[in-house]
Amino acid sequence: MRQIDQKQEHTGSYYAATVNEVTDYPVLEGAKSADVCVVGAGFTGVSTALTLAERGYSVALVEANRVGWGASGRNGGQLINGISGTEKIRKKHGNGIADMLWDIKWRGNDIIYDRVEKYGIQCDLKSGFLEVAPKPRQVSYFEEYAAEREKHNFAYEYEIWDREKTRSMLGTDAYHGGFVCYRDGHLHPLNLCIGEARAAHELGAQIFEQSPVTGIEHGERPRVKTAMGYVEADSVVLAGNAYSQLEPRHLSNLVFPAGSYIIGTEPLSDDLVNEINPLDIAVCDVNEVVDYYRLSADKRLLYGGACNYSGRDPVSIKSYILPRMLKVYPQLKDVRIDFEWGGKIGIVLDRVPAVGRINNNVYYCHGYSGHGVNATHVMGEIMSDAIAGTMERYDLFADMKHFRIPGSQWLGNQIIALGMLFYKMKDKL
Ligand SMILES: Cc1cc2nc3c(=O)[nH]c(=O)nc-3n(C[C@H](O)[C@H](O)[C@H](O)COP(=O)(O)OP(=O)(O)OC[C@H]3O[C@@H](n4cnc5c(N)ncnc54)[C@H](O)[C@@H]3O)c2cc1C
Repeated sequence: MRQIDQKQEHTGSYYAATVNEVTDYPVLEGAKSADVCVVGAGFTGVSTALTLAERGYSVALVEANRVGWGASGRNGGQLINGISGTEKIRKKHGNGIADMLWDIKWRGNDIIYDRVEKYGIQCDLKSGFLEVAPKPRQVSYFEEYAAEREKHNFAYEYEIWDREKTRSMLGTDAYHGGFVCYRDGHLHPLNLCIGEARAAHELGAQIFEQSPVTGIEHGERPRVKTAMGYVEADSVVLAGNAYSQLEPRHLSNLVFPAGSYIIGTEPLSDDLVNEINPLDIAVCDVNEVVDYYRLSADKRLLYGGACNYSGRDPVSIKSYILPRMLKVYPQLKDVRIDFEWGGKIGIVLDRVPAVGRINNNVYYCHGYSGHGVNATHVMGEIMSDAIAGTMERYDLFADMKHFRIPGSQWLGNQIIALGMLFYKMKDKL
């Protein structure tokens, strides 16, 4: 009988406790073949695999742990338009691509809404995402958001909230205003990821779990190797994001792991729900290091935040996050905390996702800088287009020259924090 390494099962999140389906795809054993082999079954890998399967490609998806085990199955579940760093792409390529970038910004949302409906994925998808301003000067961002939408004839509902409206809708005095957009929203990310993997599987994709890829043998048909087997394919997509250590010669010093953490309360009373979030929307502040929160389907407050580069999780996630939650919601001081968990975000110093290919047929796509539910889905489509030879959107990302910190794998994560500071200051100048 196959021994299951407990470390390879899901983390102790609210999502793992409320999952629709416990996946049990086989371990990769022996020789397999496919048009495309995708490494890593988070949103990037699953979304790419599903797009390719929908287009008639044969796909093998190889996951070290379980489908959705990484950031995709642990995140805040906030479905937010945009991809980090696209303003840098516009600066490089000029205003001629502004409309294409605007479409890319929303495409991941569209893909998710469509798939949830098409494949009947039960993932508690709700519309509504509110950005809030903890500092008075941040309120000015919201006029810019509205102007951008007006310019593009945005067809969905959005509103700017003043301080009083924000206070009355969120039951807290912590913010000076807000911007709500109803084309964004929130969802149960693990159930979405598993549902999309199921859809890909039903379209013929082979899925292997508990099969860490140990290396790639490059060639005309690269070979993706695990301890007990391999997949040969015309193209490979590396989608391991912050958890991947493959291809160090090409990819080290490019994407850095940072920890982000979430706590989940017990289900809140109807009175509390009506006081702090009667519209049931996702909330995120506009600070550099964000706090984000939302209600789960069973009305727990899932409150996340912080970002650490130390490479070590805090001894107690609850002690780390709870004070942040109580600063916004002192009225929750007697509420029990039932869940605490964390995961790794893939940070790229200049914030543009790191996209490219090695030897022409081994593609990689990672580093969403904490903003990936939407972005991974459009990138899955862009990677699938590139594999089919349509390079227009792929080239926008692949052409970006990324700043690397040589030797950062030995120098430690403090150097990454310094690099981030450098980029923040450069952005402000
Ligand atoms: C706590 C937290 C909260 C977040 N909140 C939000 C949010 O609210 N909204 C938002 O938009 N984004 C959020 N993010 C970011 C978002 O979750 C990520 O950007 C996104 O999930 C990245 O998806 P991915 O598929 O690229 O990577 P992952 O989901 O990390 O998946 C990578 C997978 O590759 C596998 N893998 C790695 N190496 C190998 C190998 N050698 N062989 C086989 N498999 C391998 C891993 O096991 C893993 O399953 C959050 C992230 C975290 C950690």
